[in-house]
Amino acid sequence: MKRRDIFQFSLFAILLGIQFLACKTDKAEALENLEVTDTIVTTATADTPVYQAPYQPPEGWTELNRELGFVVDIRYATDSNFTGKIIYDCPKCLLRKDVADYLIMLQKHLKEKYNLGIKVFDCYRPKPYQQRLWDVVPDARYVTPPAKGSMHSRGMAVDLTLVDSLGNELDMGTAYDYFGKEAHIDFLDLPQEVLENRAFLKAKMEEYGFEAIRTEWWHFAFNKRMYNFDDFVWSCN
Ligand SMILES: [Zn+2]
Repeated sequence: MKRRDIFQFSLFAILLGIQFLACKTDKAEALENLEVTDTIVTTATADTPVYQAPYQPPEGWTELNRELGFVVDIRYATDSNFTGKIIYDCPKCLLRKDVADYLIMLQKHLKEKYNLGIKVFDCYRPKPYQQRLWDVVPDARYVTPPAKGSMHSRGMAVDLTLVDSLGNELDMGTAYDYFGKEAHIDFLDLPQEVLENRAFLKAKMEEYGFEAIRTEWWHFAFNKRMYNFDDFVWSCN
């Protein structure tokens, strides 16, 4: 190789190198831009409202919701419950169809005759969720052991209270899920108004096929027939 050829060859190699580096830089920039673009796309998607079809419960089950006139405040789908933890992935009030039918009749009756409504705190509790609850509070004084099974897991129990026409809860003396003697239905050292509200709720629930338990003024179980436990978990879509 002549000296001049060597020089030309070197120059060519250097130029090729620069070209390669430039190319690489362009590619890196393109990748960076792509990431930025991706972020923007992701943000836009999150802000875009997504159509959700109404939830269809399985055969034999009914969802109590606002359309049916109920105030739905499923506390185990929030951390506003006695465990302080979120137990359910999302809130839904599902009940066996005839259990729901009686509550729908009662809701209409309360609305028409007393201008009152029903607020539900808990309804069907699938066994997997009962297990979660037990894992957080493994104490049979507060939570039914999953092996024994709760009436909620049969889709036959409902935790509820009464609300006025503005949605304000009637005074029942304690908050929902308050564990103490003040929440017992045979605890009578309470203001007259509270005693009357509790007595009214219990009487109406009994009239429509439900029975109370001694330790929780808010808990009622359907007593017209018995259902098996179930374990399906509702979809959150
Ligand atoms: Zn209950």
